[in-house]
Amino acid sequence: MKQELLVQIKEIVGEGDFSTKIADLYVYGFDASIHHRNPEVIVRPKSTDQVSRILRLANKNKVPVLARGGGTGLCGSAVPLEGGIVMDMTRMNEIKEIRVGDLYCIVGPGVIYDKLNEALAPYKFFFPPTPGSGEACTIGGMVATNASGMRAIKYGATRDYVLGLEVVLANGEVMRVGTKTIKNSSGYQLERLFVGSEGTLGVITEVTLKVAPKPKKAAMVVAAFDSLEKAGKCVSAIIAKPMIPSAIELMDKICIKAVNKTMHIGFPDFEALCLIEVDGEPRVVEDEVREINQICKDVGAVSVEFSADTKQMNKWTAGRKAVLPALSRYGDEFVSVSLADDMSVPISRIPETVVAFQKIAERNHVIIGTYGHAADGNLHTKMLLDPLSPDSWKNGEIAVGEIFDTVIEVGGTVTGEHGVGISKAPYMQKERAEALKAMELIKKALDPNDILNPGKIMEWKGSIIQYLRYPCEIK
Ligand SMILES: Cc1cc2nc3c(=O)[nH]c(=O)nc-3n(C[C@H](O)[C@H](O)[C@H](O)COP(=O)(O)OP(=O)(O)OC[C@H]3O[C@@H](n4cnc5c(N)ncnc54)[C@H](O)[C@@H]3O)c2cc1C
Repeated sequence: MKQELLVQIKEIVGEGDFSTKIADLYVYGFDASIHHRNPEVIVRPKSTDQVSRILRLANKNKVPVLARGGGTGLCGSAVPLEGGIVMDMTRMNEIKEIRVGDLYCIVGPGVIYDKLNEALAPYKFFFPPTPGSGEACTIGGMVATNASGMRAIKYGATRDYVLGLEVVLANGEVMRVGTKTIKNSSGYQLERLFVGSEGTLGVITEVTLKVAPKPKKAAMVVAAFDSLEKAGKCVSAIIAKPMIPSAIELMDKICIKAVNKTMHIGFPDFEALCLIEVDGEPRVVEDEVREINQICKDVGAVSVEFSADTKQMNKWTAGRKAVLPALSRYGDEFVSVSLADDMSVPISRIPETVVAFQKIAERNHVIIGTYGHAADGNLHTKMLLDPLSPDSWKNGEIAVGEIFDTVIEVGGTVTGEHGVGISKAPYMQKERAEALKAMELIKKALDPNDILNPGKIMEWKGSIIQYLRYPCEIK
């Protein structure tokens, strides 16, 4: 990038929020995926005006810009593939308005998920999606990836809460889309277009979010099974009852062992378990816990425990949240990598899908831990690979292709909540073949110079085992 341009960018944000130091560039080249690439400059804008001025300059000079939130993305969506400017949005972290009487709040894109819920708690309201990364991910990042989490079955995903957005387009133009109202049929629902756009269509500078009243009571059931298939059957039996719990988390034996080893949670050590949460009016919660207990036994659970004690429930939830890091300590020579990590399938197809994953793992000599927000059909797998071995990556990539073929065959999607980025791009292109042309036309219309997060989603070409964060050369 030309020195003259760097000087102009520094003038916009000020010296303290500008860096070209090699250590900063290196750090900002990562998200939580397997990928890495250094940008050329980092800026931390404090206002919509600064974002707009930077984009105007970048567009004129055809320099790539990547808007970054907490950098917790798992598929490389926040890795600056073509260098350029990384725009760290975390300084725009003001909670501007909370109006629970109108069921909305207005926040800057850099507000951290847990911080927003801390601010909403005194009003007895919350923003429900509950991503496992809530301590670190931002509202802007959540909108840009349509993030959700364990409570999506009952409360929906981020898109269900986005009422309105302020967005800066690639040419620097500031645009408001959506409303502050709960209902809106006023033309194209453009706020939805930016949900899941992963920084490729515009930079989100303000979000108007719907909020929900907090449930009065919650309780949890932990049911253990002697097969993963039975645990899968338990999920659809509960939903078909009919009952909508606030969460059902599934963990296979690899995940159970990893969490028990690192966190000493004491989950029952069987082939699989379901962690089921219900919430609402106290009497309804008690009835539902009784019914779930019976369903688990009918499906063949080998042990069932339940609790409404907050301390115990927090312990179980912490154990579930720890699956991802715990898997990295499962064996000494492996790391857990996010490959084929976030499929969503019709709920009734979970049992056959998880059995297929086990066979794929055996066939390709890779260890796969399966867990996920099973109540809404969202399955996560983590592969344990030797990151320094090209053969290990090759086996992993073959397994990824087979996993996604299985998922597409049962009518699922290759990503339920983490987004596409790099790691899922070729498989999304397969799944959405008929829609790719329309996606390309939308991108061209909003970002004709292709400066916003270029090379991602429908633009990615070739194998996903590229731009690795590990020192391993794949030929
Ligand atoms: C331990 C762990 C657990 C996780 N659990 C979950 C889970 O349960 N559910 C879930 O959905 N995800 C989960 N994730 C993935 C991740 O946390 C989410 O995708 C999250 O929404 C990313 O937010 P972020 O602020 O970190 O965004 P980043 O990773 O910084 O960016 C993600 C994408 O959003 C874009 N973006 C960020 N801010 C803006 C903006 N202001 N304007 C335009 N584009 C923007 C970026 O360009 C990028 O494409 C988990 C990750 C980890 C590490």
